[in-house]
Amino acid sequence: MDHNQQLFERAQKVIPGGVNSPVRAFRAVGGTPRFVQRAQGAYFWDANGKKHIDYIGSWGPMILGHGHPAVLEAVQKAALDGFSFGAPTEREVELAEAILELVPSIDMVRLVSSGTEAGMSTIRLARGATGRKTIIKFEGCYHGHADALLVKAGSGLATFGNPTSAGVPPEVVQHTLVLEYNNVEQLEAAFAQHGADIACLMIEPIAGNMNFVRASVPFMKRCRELCTQHGALLAFDEVMTGFRVALGSAQSVYAQLIPGFEPDMTVMGKVIGGGMPLAAFGAKRAVMEHLAPLGGVYQAGTLSGNPVATACGLATLREIRKPGFFEALSARTQSLVAGLAAAANEAGVPFRGDSQGGMFGFFLLDHLPQNYAAVMKTDGPRFNRFFHGMLNRGVYFAPALYEAGFVSAAHTEADVAETVAAAKEVFASL
Ligand code: PMP
Repeated sequence: MDHNQQLFERAQKVIPGGVNSPVRAFRAVGGTPRFVQRAQGAYFWDANGKKHIDYIGSWGPMILGHGHPAVLEAVQKAALDGFSFGAPTEREVELAEAILELVPSIDMVRLVSSGTEAGMSTIRLARGATGRKTIIKFEGCYHGHADALLVKAGSGLATFGNPTSAGVPPEVVQHTLVLEYNNVEQLEAAFAQHGADIACLMIEPIAGNMNFVRASVPFMKRCRELCTQHGALLAFDEVMTGFRVALGSAQSVYAQLIPGFEPDMTVMGKVIGGGMPLAAFGAKRAVMEHLAPLGGVYQAGTLSGNPVATACGLATLREIRKPGFFEALSARTQSLVAGLAAAANEAGVPFRGDSQGGMFGFFLLDHLPQNYAAVMKTDGPRFNRFFHGMLNRGVYFAPALYEAGFVSAAHTEADVAETVAAAKEVFASL
């Protein structure tokens, strides 16, 4: 009896698509989603009791692996003191201080409960602080499901976008300009035409919602220069990359490549909550002071700064700050990508992968795509066969070719070796 299938059938009767977030339904790859029973370290066990090596880790938050003892202890202790107060607590201050210490571009931070909320609030704050309406986003970047951000490119160069979701009136996205990622000419054309109206440019510096695509250094440099020149705010969506690709997040990676580089605003989530509903947005003091109760930009939340979530986030940050943490995580991730590449090579399957810190991506191609259109042109059916081959062998990669993957500190070299051995078999059968 397949308990995953049974649960999926039961779920579909009461939850749309049987899931509470669409990608979990396996629509892209087909087949039955695995219902998770429990997880520990680098593994989870599904409803059939089958063990999987988990390369999703809740889509990023579980950087220490599941059930890290120090995090568990912090959460249990916090829960005993109360679940939610709707009044300030010391841990919120502590977490804000920790974020500021690790991300120097931020002077002040506000805690919220999801990346969607953080992205949406960042846009409102950018508009409130600049008194402008237009926002720039890039095709293939995901910033949560706020109406103004559910937009795809229109036809033609540097056009205002069309909603990607039913229920979003075109009027709501009429101020959202959608550009191609890594396309400097389009970026320049957009600023030349609309520069004085642009409140902010929001970008995933290393995009993890179109597999794994880095913003090129010349492109990022131009984003920074044009924002500064036109008085627009450069907003980094680090919900996925924050405290995941480096201790200082993706902005520290670009600061090493572009001297003096800093974004104006940062959106964070995932790792800062360690698996609990917690996200944040931050910026320089002059921008953040536009936020209520100091300024006129409204933003609020019943569960914002939740005491159990902040305990989980703080305990997680404490672990990743330990000396050598990111060196070890990066090495393990690189070893995984190199192992997969070697396995593909042996089978004559084209393969190119990339990683930064504990985040990775790979394509069954001989090159790395640089934008969304190029990612979506890759061979979906072949990826799906790879995905299911790995899943059958107990290795859980993202169930769609346009998603990034995640390695945790709990993954061992033995887990990587097991993954690579499985990949050898699967590549040979592709
Ligand atoms: N921004 C990015 C870059 C993301 O990857 C995500 C979620 N995957 C979000 C925002 C939205 O976060 P949440 O799902 O917590 O609302």
